[in-house]
Amino acid sequence: MPANIDTILFKDIDEPGLNTREVYERRGGYEMLRKALKMEPSAVLDEMLASGVRGRGGAGFAMGRKMSFIPKGTMDKYLVCNADESEPGTFKDRELMQKNPHLLIEGIIIGAYCIGASKSFIFIRGEYDYVADILDAAVAEARAAGYLGENILGSDHTIDLVVHRGAGAYICGEETALLDSLEGKRGNPRLKPPFPAVQGLYQGPTLINNVETLMNVPVILNMGGAEYAKIGTETSTGTKMISISGQIKYPGNYEIELGMKTRDILFDLGGGPLEGRTFKAWFPGGSSSPVMPLTEEVLEMPYDFDSIAKAGSMLGSGAIIVFDDSTSIVDVCYKTAHFYRHESCGKCSPCREGCNWTEKMLVRIKNGDATPMDLDIIESVCNQIMGNCLCVLGDAMAMPVSSMIKHFRPEFEAYIEAKREEAGFGVAIPQT
Ligand code: NAD
Repeated sequence: MPANIDTILFKDIDEPGLNTREVYERRGGYEMLRKALKMEPSAVLDEMLASGVRGRGGAGFAMGRKMSFIPKGTMDKYLVCNADESEPGTFKDRELMQKNPHLLIEGIIIGAYCIGASKSFIFIRGEYDYVADILDAAVAEARAAGYLGENILGSDHTIDLVVHRGAGAYICGEETALLDSLEGKRGNPRLKPPFPAVQGLYQGPTLINNVETLMNVPVILNMGGAEYAKIGTETSTGTKMISISGQIKYPGNYEIELGMKTRDILFDLGGGPLEGRTFKAWFPGGSSSPVMPLTEEVLEMPYDFDSIAKAGSMLGSGAIIVFDDSTSIVDVCYKTAHFYRHESCGKCSPCREGCNWTEKMLVRIKNGDATPMDLDIIESVCNQIMGNCLCVLGDAMAMPVSSMIKHFRPEFEAYIEAKREEAGFGVAIPQT
């Protein structure tokens, strides 16, 4: 990371009053909006493309590329900020929005200007009610100052922003379900393609990006895309907000340079395992990412999109959940399956039936009714879910569940045997 940059989004984050326009402007806030309005929208886009910044919600799709998919022309276009932060273990956007709402608003206005959208929305999860109040207050301040509304800052651009509260469904974080919910329908995923960039809100071209991604827009404009791209690794540029939780000394939100070694994240920032314990496993990127045992090799792995994918998991939303040797992986597996089964919208059968049966089989294991053969059945169900659903919710259950069975099969088998004996069923017939 360049010597003068320690943190970007977390810079001044604890400055008292940063959530007010006055303090934000004192820190140079809204200067990048003025700069953007003097540039051609295509020049703003060029900076985003040059930065190489990838989406921070979970999928890691290049933001500039996504912006470039928005068709030119005079049709109504929309920008939607996905603030439905619901992935278990993820709480970075909450802190960012709560403490620095104007940076998000500035990012949204610049993004909307870049793609030619005059209407924008923040879809925030209903449980973040108090954060939505903070955003509403900040939007009102921005509108009063002429940053939002008709002819912003005396230009011929009109951009408005509405904060919309969700009603507490995990599936509404999936971009097309979010759009349906915003339109007032039940939040169910749509078939993709068409992607929202082409046909999104009210059938119009729509740019949907995560909170953290949009907050990087003014930063990139300030720094210049090429300069921003020097931070991080070649294919994972910039910094990343991570939320560390679980059995670790110092849980919390941290901003890291992408490519930081996993060991440094877990031991230097996270403080290492609790007294007398050792690390056993982790979710590198939220509960939908495949679980990895925390081996020496994994601890040496750089934390970036491609290194984690190469090692068989994903960076996802940057939510690191750590387990120590006191945790039963079978319990983690059941709780994970239970969560996704509960949140499945039921629209497509591989997810609706697959999540349901996986949870039922894990209940059998917990009740002492299973044999090790059930593990193979669970794996086969998971294989039939992956890649066959309308959206990624089914995969979000199948990937972690099958990874836990793959890496910790002996623990599952010992658990099954012990529970069978406890229930008085005797030892299971060994598999052939
Ligand atoms: P995706 O890979 O389908 O899409 C990523 C983005 O790129 C989308 O906006 C999509 O519209 C766009 N895109 C992809 N291909 C495109 C194309 N050809 N043309 C135009 N646009 C295109 O992934 P997704 O379903 O949006 O997101 C999945 C991820 O979300 C998971 O990996 C998970 O980590 C994450 N997630 C995060 C949270 C959270 O709380 N932050 C919650 C649930 C899931």
